[in-house]
Amino acid sequence: MASTRPSLAEDVVLRTTPIIDGLPPAGKGCVFTVTNPATTQTIATIPLLGAEAAERAVASNAAALQEWRKRAAAERADILLAWHGLILQNREDLARLLTSEQGKPLNEARGEIDYAASFVRWFAEEARRVYGEIIPAARERRVMVIKQPVGVVGAITPWNFPAAMITRKVAPALAAGCTVTLKPAELTPLSAFALAHLALDAGVPPGVFNVIAGDAPAIGSVLTSDPTVAKFTFTGSTAVGKLLTAQCATTLKRVSMELGGNAPLIVFDDADIDTAVEGAIASKFRNTGQTCVCANRILVQSGIHDRFAEALAARVAAFRVGNGLEGETDQGPLITAAALQKVRDHVGDAVGRGARIVTGGERHEAGELFHQPTVLIGANPDMRLAQEETFGPVAPLFRFANEGEALALANSTRSGLAAYAFTRDMDRFWRLAEGLEVGMVGFNNGIISSETVPFGGVKESGLGREGSRHGIDEFLELKAISLGLPPQPGIE
Ligand code: ADP
Repeated sequence: MASTRPSLAEDVVLRTTPIIDGLPPAGKGCVFTVTNPATTQTIATIPLLGAEAAERAVASNAAALQEWRKRAAAERADILLAWHGLILQNREDLARLLTSEQGKPLNEARGEIDYAASFVRWFAEEARRVYGEIIPAARERRVMVIKQPVGVVGAITPWNFPAAMITRKVAPALAAGCTVTLKPAELTPLSAFALAHLALDAGVPPGVFNVIAGDAPAIGSVLTSDPTVAKFTFTGSTAVGKLLTAQCATTLKRVSMELGGNAPLIVFDDADIDTAVEGAIASKFRNTGQTCVCANRILVQSGIHDRFAEALAARVAAFRVGNGLEGETDQGPLITAAALQKVRDHVGDAVGRGARIVTGGERHEAGELFHQPTVLIGANPDMRLAQEETFGPVAPLFRFANEGEALALANSTRSGLAAYAFTRDMDRFWRLAEGLEVGMVGFNNGIISSETVPFGGVKESGLGREGSRHGIDEFLELKAISLGLPPQPGIE
């Protein structure tokens, strides 16, 4: 149950260490640093762990699994609820830590902590609803199906949601009775460490949830090839996801992949323009454009195009850009110099191929890693920003004439994560809902994810779903049990 340990603010460094078997592991002296992208200052120095630490972590998961999987679901649920309570109790500190390592505006970081906590509560509730089945198979036997934890789970998460991507995997795994070794992104490990410390405080036993970081390929290689690991779950780029899936093949692990997107956001002539502008902003510019469900291509029908472009650009030009810890901001920095360069390359390539900048287009003076929020018109499918995720604050507008053209353009990619459409025509709503080749569609709104929604993609955007009542299934195996019945004497 919850302890009275001090809050993060009093103890922030101590509580941002890796954890194996309930303890901070001793490193071999090698370290890596975590920087604040808003200031490019170092904020923490972390022991650099590798394959050996990963092997120890997995072994401790295997040992802890024996007891954890046998606990009553209600007991695991209570521990998860205690973790949920501690996350919310430390909300402000966790949000500040998150902004410090990731750069998003503090208000967005608070929202992410709430979002992260929501998965813990949701899966605490789901822990008690892992029902089996009884199948009326044949006269001489009965068939039952029970659901059991998959076992030891390896997890790797990205830097863009340093808290929520952790809980979206770890909470259902723990609820199901699995144990987990997590490797967060080395750019943003502090939130993961802090969450793991709070989990220990909440009563998650040592060895049930380990967190290590450092040499990503070395740790990744253990998590994807050690036969002790039964399930591997990843959120990150499509290229790395494919590599890690291939690595999992040798021991045939269960695999979940949440990979990149190239989301279309389609605005039809009949849309409510204010709703469409607000939806486009929410989808495109949240987290400085660094989410896998961010609108990457904004397709706008000819009749509304110019009014929409003008209204969007006016809103975007008024964004407050700066360090998320200092005052109210709408947009922060990019995560790294390479991320900023990609944004600049995409804008340069688009302008070179005929796009016109309506607002923004350059670096922003707020700091080394900042870019102006940007709106472009005249985008076309030959541009890099149409083919790759820009992962930055650039909204390119593509003009289209009719629904068929828009749908073909929307689906003309190997990605299939999210799509958005703004229309008031219900017939069109159904055609698009069924015709868009994605895992999630937002109509007349730009935010589709919550703990209640099955999150995931089709095509090269992934395998499996997180969140919702389906999310726990990724960590459960079905076992069929056939019970033979003795011959039944006839009843006189
Ligand atoms: P992004 O482009 O968002 O940084 P990545 O796929 O590179 O996405 O990173 C997502 C996660 O994958 C991070 O935790 C990163 O450390 C990890 N990662 C990257 N390359 C490898 C690898 N070869 N093996 C294991 N993990 C990796």
